[in-house]
Amino acid sequence: MIEQLQTLLGPSHVLTDLTCTDWRGRYSGKPLAVVRPANTEEVAAVVKLCASNHIAIVPQGGNTGLCGGATPSGGEVVVSLARLNRIRRIHHDHCIVEAGCTLAAVKEAAALQGRLFPLSLAAEGSAMIGGNLSTNAGGVQVLRYGNARELTLGLEVVLPDGRVWNGLRALRKDNTGVDLKQLFIGAEGTLGIITAAVLKLFPQPKNLVTAWVAVPNPAAALALLQRLSNVTAFELIGRMALDLVLKHVSAARDPLLDSPLWQVLIEADTTDLEEHLAAAMEAGEVTDAILAQSTAQSRTLWNLRESIPEAERAEGFAIKHDISIPLSRLPEFIARADTALSGKTIICFGHMGDGNLHYNVVTPLSHTDTINRLVYDLVHELGGSFSAEHGIGQLKRGELLHYKSEVEIDLMRTLKHAIDPQGTMNPGKVLTRMVTKPTPVT
Ligand code: FAD
Repeated sequence: MIEQLQTLLGPSHVLTDLTCTDWRGRYSGKPLAVVRPANTEEVAAVVKLCASNHIAIVPQGGNTGLCGGATPSGGEVVVSLARLNRIRRIHHDHCIVEAGCTLAAVKEAAALQGRLFPLSLAAEGSAMIGGNLSTNAGGVQVLRYGNARELTLGLEVVLPDGRVWNGLRALRKDNTGVDLKQLFIGAEGTLGIITAAVLKLFPQPKNLVTAWVAVPNPAAALALLQRLSNVTAFELIGRMALDLVLKHVSAARDPLLDSPLWQVLIEADTTDLEEHLAAAMEAGEVTDAILAQSTAQSRTLWNLRESIPEAERAEGFAIKHDISIPLSRLPEFIARADTALSGKTIICFGHMGDGNLHYNVVTPLSHTDTINRLVYDLVHELGGSFSAEHGIGQLKRGELLHYKSEVEIDLMRTLKHAIDPQGTMNPGKVLTRMVTKPTPVT
């Protein structure tokens, strides 16, 4: 197998004797090989070879996923998309890019043409477009522009049998049957390997302003959000999350005095944010605020927000919950969960504008099941989701079975079986291992 892979790709692009570990260091596995194809044809050739030998495949982008989806469990071929990094074309309203382009590179290329690709997340320097689409990534601008699913017009995919589906259409309207691209977006590499995508581009905002605002509580933050217009980002940051950044990130400073318990980082494309903040202050929804006076100041504020995951990692173990809740019930969730977990340290922050919170609990690993049940049952009761933007991977397979209905699980399994009957495409991710087990590698 290794020799055949080397013949296909050249020996320097078939790496053996490696152990792969996920970003959080929770999962690791020793693959048969990590291969680095250079183009769609090479990806297809690798997949065909693996399929005919019943060898499982793990697609991998930037390896910044937070649920262990890109980590092998042992014996698979990891297909790294890193060398498929060409921007094939940029038009006014869309671009065609390969799966291994980093998100930052795509944004930069769009900006050079005076256009905006709005997907934004702290890991964008490493995360790749194929990974972004396969996890249906969200980030900080979903409120205004939508998540990865909504930003995608077309896809090119290598199917589990090695055929290539060319769906690189740049159409905003196309009602010609089932929208196949949506099957692969968010599938976490379990249905095929995305090799290229057509992405929507937007005008650059003209009046972007950034504000750091203290609010008395999450309900006040919600009232503030409802008063504002043209908001592109609305990030809630709890005291503990900010304190971790101040502790672990050198040169980080609290932008406001008096250490407020809750703050919101707001970005809006508007000229009237200051007026709205003044009115909110009179209404008691805001207690203090600063507006960035320059791009550098705005960057400093964003750095505080974007450093939270790294600061959490530096601090040590916490049970992470990436949840979404209908906006109107989000303050109720925080109040009830905080009460149920009183005495524990809670790191709470997230994309409040989308009803998406990272509600992380500092507690020993052995408490995971109890804490998860408490948090996720409350989320479920309030009509929310146990995975807002990070996906399922290996981490949340149990929750998927617990909270999705039998009909939903059955439909997911039926789709998986129809598209990947051998079960070789990223087995054991999203759904527990099923169908034909790949033959173990000897
Ligand atoms: P990987 O980790 O390599 O892979 C993720 C999954 O996609 C795996 O299942 C893998 O098999 C599959 N996959 C990868 N490439 C392909 C492909 N070409 N075809 C098919 N399947 C593929 N996520 C958010 O949504 N919002 C955030 O705000 C956010 N912030 C983050 C901040 C930090 C500091 C970190 C470390 C992560 C953050 N994430 C966030 C999570 C992560 O960055 C996203 O999930 C991202 O989309 C993963 O991209 P990747 O290229 O690293 O994918």
